[in-house]
Amino acid sequence: TDVAAPVAIAIAMSGPQGLSRASGLPDNIFLHDGQITKRPIRALTLSALAPRPGEILWDVGAGSGSVSVEWCLAGGRAIAVEIRADRAANIRANAKALGVDHLLRVVEGAAPDALDGLPDPDAVFIGGGGRAALLDHLWAVLPPGTRIVANGVTLETEALLALWHGQKGGELLRIELAKAAPLGSMRGWSPARPVVQWSVTR
Ligand code: SAH
Repeated sequence: TDVAAPVAIAIAMSGPQGLSRASGLPDNIFLHDGQITKRPIRALTLSALAPRPGEILWDVGAGSGSVSVEWCLAGGRAIAVEIRADRAANIRANAKALGVDHLLRVVEGAAPDALDGLPDPDAVFIGGGGRAALLDHLWAVLPPGTRIVANGVTLETEALLALWHGQKGGELLRIELAKAAPLGSMRGWSPARPVVQWSVTR
């Protein structure tokens, strides 16, 4: 993986004006392999996670670590749990490039087992592949008051999140976005897959 590219972009972006203070930074400042929560969805995700200074995030299935990095930029500390070694390496590179490596800990392993023994979080993000076993585990171990945000793109995850929303409450959001793209000599809307986002307080 090429660590230089995001570092160069991060440095370029923190030129005279610095990095934007808002969440939803451009995807291309993060080293990633395509598995990344895209900018507009990431902005909505950070809004739902609602970081406060000093709070701890568990980012379960952290991918590139983009959500963890933005949580840290907002003043928190994050524990990024990722099963794949190549992605764990991306997370470390991204944390370093954006200056939050002292706030972000990477746990390379499979959730839910990899969550054992971690300090209690204030918020938990499930960035994809939410499974019943993971939600069951989290509901059992998280202290009341913990904020949980889960994003899903598959029908299976959507069905699971709809079921849990029915049982536990919270807010269920379907995010459907389209971007203008060339269509022959003109332009048309190119729709992204809908993302279903469930936010709840344990
Ligand atoms: N929010 C991330 C993208 C998450 S994609 C970003 O913005 O970059 C979901 C990630 O979960 C993938 O990287 C996948 O490898 C990881 N994953 C899947 N099952 C997992 C498990 N049981 N434990 C830890 N990570 C897992």
